[in-house]
Amino acid sequence: MSEPVVTADPDCLFCRIVAGEIPADVVREDDRTLAFRDIDPKAPTHVLVIPKAHHRDLVALGGAPDDAAAVLAAAAAVAEDEALGDFRAVANTGAGAGQTVFHAHLHLLAGRPLTWPPG
Ligand code: 5GP
Ligand code: ZN
Repeated sequence: MSEPVVTADPDCLFCRIVAGEIPADVVREDDRTLAFRDIDPKAPTHVLVIPKAHHRDLVALGGAPDDAAAVLAAAAAVAEDEALGDFRAVANTGAGAGQTVFHAHLHLLAGRPLTWPPG
C-alpha cells in the first residue's frame, strides 16, 4: 500500500470536517479515513465513513484502491465498535440518486428495520 495522499478541496464540506474547520462527532479515525455521525440521522445509528482524501463520489473512490479499501475496512470496524448488528451501507452516487455532498462517503444505517428496496 502506498503512503496516503490527502488531497483537499477548500470548498468541500467533508474536506473541511477532515481539516477540523467544521466540528463533527467523530467515532473513528485513521490515516486514510474518518467516521462521524450524520448531522440529520435517518436511523437510530447513522454514521458516515469517508476517505480523508477528496474523491467526488464512489466512482472516483474506486479509482483510488488504497483509499477504497481503507473506507471498507473502516466501515467494518465501525460496525463492530458500534455493535450495529444488521445494518445498511449506502453510497448515493449522483444528484439523481440523492447525493448532496460531493465527497465520497458510505452511510451506515442501523437500529431500525430497513426495508428493501429503498426509495
Ligand atoms: P448524501 O446526501 O450526499 O448521500 O449524504 C450527505 C449526508 O451528509 C447527509 O445525510 C447529511 O445529513 C450529512 N451532512 C450534511 N452536512 C453535514 C454536516 O455538517 N455534518 C455532518 N455530520 N453531516 C452532514
Ligand atoms: Zn472533499
